[in-house]
Amino acid sequence: MTTQVETTVRSPEAYTLAHRAVDAMQAAAVWPTPLNFELWLHYLGDPDGTLGQEISRLLATGAPFTDSTAEMLAAEFLPRGRLSEEIRDAGAMLNRELAAVAGAIDKARESQANYGHTLADAVDRMASAGDADSLGDIVSSLADATRRIRRHTAALERRLESSNREVTRLRDHMEQVRRDAMTDALTNLANRKAFDEHLLRLCDEAESMGGSIGLAIIDIDHFKRFNDTWGHQTGDQVLRYVASVLGRVSRAPRIAARYGGEEFALIFPGETAGAIEAALNAIREEIASRALRRRSTNDDLGAVTISVGFGLRRPGETASQLLTRADEALYASKRSGRNKVTAAAQAVSDAA
Ligand code: GH3
Ligand code: MG
Ligand code: MG
Repeated sequence: MTTQVETTVRSPEAYTLAHRAVDAMQAAAVWPTPLNFELWLHYLGDPDGTLGQEISRLLATGAPFTDSTAEMLAAEFLPRGRLSEEIRDAGAMLNRELAAVAGAIDKARESQANYGHTLADAVDRMASAGDADSLGDIVSSLADATRRIRRHTAALERRLESSNREVTRLRDHMEQVRRDAMTDALTNLANRKAFDEHLLRLCDEAESMGGSIGLAIIDIDHFKRFNDTWGHQTGDQVLRYVASVLGRVSRAPRIAARYGGEEFALIFPGETAGAIEAALNAIREEIASRALRRRSTNDDLGAVTISVGFGLRRPGETASQLLTRADEALYASKRSGRNKVTAAAQAVSDAA
């Protein structure tokens, strides 16, 4: 999507697209902030894409399109472009820093070499020095050279110290960028990308070293209806609430992630099917038993329920096969009335 928009904004239709974006924002009473402009370019460039559909849906609700809505959409749908920009910037800073350090080291090496020549030269001159005066000259030129080299060495030390600070700062910044790229902005759980990486890694490890991997997919029941009744922002609060319950029960090595819109995933390394099912039912009951209140108005929202499907990885099974089975079990929970936990078929012969 990003590439598509990038090429469009560098083509002759770019001005038309830009005008259309501004007109469309004005028609929808959306402020033409740089971020909104960027979102609207994507929206008009690909109205049926995931971002386009989400913007259409938000506009249809009639709720004001706030800066935080824009931030949320950008975090969810435009992360890659931003991430690569940050990485490019940090990479350029690091390169500048390294070039400066290399320059300082070259200079230091040069002054060391000069100092060596000065010493060698002094030794020759001493050997042929005839009187105290000329020895005195030699000693004072040596003292000068020594002071110079001390100054250069101190300057190099200062340069390396400041470089060290700058590199540490860049490293912390990159670490933060990396963490942000792996975190879902709304719920603070691991995002889909982080989840995919964890699941692939754990399945590989289980394949080579043995050990069990349990996977659960969790989907909020009738969430569309909930959003339609109470609004998207209240819907977001519910997503945060469900995420907080999942986060709380997912101490390492368990992993909780936001898998997509109103779907979550839990990975259970090294647990039996019985323990996983018991944990999932406890989560399901806790969520269903809590009467929710809307923060702004204190309206009673009732309770939300979740449907869950889970499976244990079979020997030789790939991450995506395991996901498919957990998903099928989730749909079995939905079909049989929701607010349920269903185990995927386990033995290979059960699956037929
Ligand atoms: P089911 O019980 O079959 O799962 O029904 P459902 O309504 O939950 O499922 P459906 O897939 O039809 O709708 C999911 C809804 O989740 C659609 C969308 O409004 C909502 N949704 C997805 N992502 C977000 C989000 O980030 N915030 C909010 N508030 N709602 C979201
Ligand atoms: Mg769903
Ligand atoms: Mg749902």
